Amino acid sequence: MDAREVVDALLRPDLRGRTAYGAPQLDVPVALNTNESSYPVPAVVVAAMTAAVEEAAAGLNRYPDREFTRLREALAAYLGRSGTTVDPAQVWAGNGSNEVLLHLLQAFGGPGRTALGFTPAYSMHPIITTTTGTAWVDGMRGVAGAGAFDLDAASAVVQVREHRPDVVFLCSPNNPTGTALGLDVVEAVYDAADGLVVVDEAYAEYARAGTPSALTLLAGRPRLVVTRTMSKAFALAGGRVGYLAADPALVDALRLVRMPYHLSTPTQAVALAALAHADLMLETVDAVRAQRDRIVDEIARMGLSPVPSDANFVLFGGLADSHATWQGLLDRGVLVRDVGIAHYLRVTAGTPEETSAFLDALAALVPTHAGAAP
Ligand SMILES: *Cc1c(COP(=O)(O)O)cnc(C)c1O
Repeated sequence: MDAREVVDALLRPDLRGRTAYGAPQLDVPVALNTNESSYPVPAVVVAAMTAAVEEAAAGLNRYPDREFTRLREALAAYLGRSGTTVDPAQVWAGNGSNEVLLHLLQAFGGPGRTALGFTPAYSMHPIITTTTGTAWVDGMRGVAGAGAFDLDAASAVVQVREHRPDVVFLCSPNNPTGTALGLDVVEAVYDAADGLVVVDEAYAEYARAGTPSALTLLAGRPRLVVTRTMSKAFALAGGRVGYLAADPALVDALRLVRMPYHLSTPTQAVALAALAHADLMLETVDAVRAQRDRIVDEIARMGLSPVPSDANFVLFGGLADSHATWQGLLDRGVLVRDVGIAHYLRVTAGTPEETSAFLDALAALVPTHAGAAP
């Protein structure tokens, strides 16, 4: 037996043959495939981060504040800016919202339990679910007479009643489709479910005006969780900080599964410095929204089918062979995401220059690549 066979024989049977999360990290001139911010951290914030890490460095012989108290206060204050008061005891954080989701599944999922999501949605939801031994149930989106990727309350409720999951994932704005959910869907799913309802709002800051957050529904709903991240609008993907807001009792349960001291001192220092400059860190959100709207308009003008977006990316259909288009764009130096939906690709809204590079490359391909019904 070679080493691979030895390892495969030892591996948990439910993990054999699985493929790992693998968005390509290629060195290309225009990388628009993972919904990062294209804008570097502003110099003022870099200076604040550097000073904070330097100040903390001599104390790295000690473990970090296990309760990340100052970070929780800062995150609660940041969420409070939207108008909903959030207490620091309602906040939990991790190394990216992916770790926060992992804590939720470790505490509320596990062998013999199930989690339901409405596909296509964030590809990490089923991966995190199954790594904790929780069974994944693929729910469906799609509303007759509306958008192919919309999810309405009636359809969601039927699916929740049928499967009675321990955890339900909603994603709003939804990745990879881009559109936000109405709060009526969140409320109806909460009422229909017995288990946890997790609303992944990674892209909330990019939503179109008037899009409400599920944060407004937290009061009196102890099974509701809203997850957020600093990786997208906050332009801090490399900092690895995600967080959630929920009832303090639910937050308390997460202490049972997290590793002690899971947020390093440098991580806490960098995130605090960024939050102290929240306005500056969010300065490019409007510019990115403008590029997103430009992508939707121009792609429609090319005869392709963009999905309405509340995020910093656009899913577009109408491609005869989406993999061929993905390759054609890459050959022109533009990396977008093939999310595995036939005839569709997803592109992140970057700087105006990056957006132009993408649109020019796509326009060159469209005469031969357009064709399939959306
Ligand atoms: C990008 C993304 C995240 C963020 O993950 P982090 O671990 O915080 O970087 C979470 N949810 C969705 C839907 C995303 O697209």
